[in-house]
Amino acid sequence: EAQLPSGEQLPRYVRVNTLKTTVEDVVDYLKRDGYTYQGQAVRLDDLTLKGKSFVKDLFLPELLVFSSKTDFHDHFLYKAGHIILQDKASCLPAYLLKPPSGSHVIDACAAPGNKTSHLAAIMKNKGKLFAFDLDAKRLATMSTLLLRAGVTCQQLAHQDFLKVNPDSPQYKDVEYVLLDPSCSGSGMVCLQDRSSADQTRLASLAAFQLRCLNHAVRFPRLKRLVYSTCSIHSQENEEVITAFLQQNSSFRRMSTVPKVTLAGGLEVCRILNGMWQVSGAHGTVSTTRAVEAMQTYADAGLT
Ligand code: SAM
Repeated sequence: EAQLPSGEQLPRYVRVNTLKTTVEDVVDYLKRDGYTYQGQAVRLDDLTLKGKSFVKDLFLPELLVFSSKTDFHDHFLYKAGHIILQDKASCLPAYLLKPPSGSHVIDACAAPGNKTSHLAAIMKNKGKLFAFDLDAKRLATMSTLLLRAGVTCQQLAHQDFLKVNPDSPQYKDVEYVLLDPSCSGSGMVCLQDRSSADQTRLASLAAFQLRCLNHAVRFPRLKRLVYSTCSIHSQENEEVITAFLQQNSSFRRMSTVPKVTLAGGLEVCRILNGMWQVSGAHGTVSTTRAVEAMQTYADAGLT
């Protein structure tokens, strides 16, 4: 088992909201604001930053990386919706789904909407983005967030995704689905007690996750689906995907692990820190399990 670094050692990620600005403009603004830009990261070590230094991420073009102590909550760029405080883990699903501009997309369990706003940015606000959530309070937060981010292509609905009718004419052109269902959250570094997984709870979450997947593939023109969790439990990841693939033989799993050179075990974990929604404290995870967990950002495409 390798030890994840503590929350204080983890970098802070910032996604540039390309609906409102460009990476170059944000970099220039921050330089004028006293930050030191160190260019594009090329090695993992480049993500270990001090003070007000920052870099562009290794893989994701719109992601900037700062030292762990950086806090942008009161910053103009955040308040104006030019930057979104979103971890690398949380940026991967929309990045992997890559819906083209103009396409019709469903965000099945969408609130509070960071991935929805990322999808809208990838779609350049063109097309239709149907976003569902069961929780009214989280949806209200989401409306505020999307407004600040300048998202206009969305259609929010306070609705149980499992009750959305896939044969309704309004969804006839939906080709892309992002499914980020409720999960145990065990992959979040802030949740310390991972060892005592409640098997009954995991089984019930997994059953829900599988039902959501099976529902998502009923949309008649579906081309690609990305399933993501912030859990490290195989019951919610590999096992859900395996069960889904057994029941849906026309789908195949695509490998989505970013191409990186994995050096030592610790480095693997450091990559993974970015992959999960992490904040605060620390946790332990075996490197093998960690790599598997990355792969569960699996998408299944119609063959
Ligand atoms: N995708 C969101 C983001 O990136 O900001 C986070 C989604 S969170 C992991 C899961 C969400 O699913 C919760 O907001 C929860 O209210 C919602 N949810 C749970 N069951 C649902 C259902 N049957 N239909 C729609 N949403 C549901």
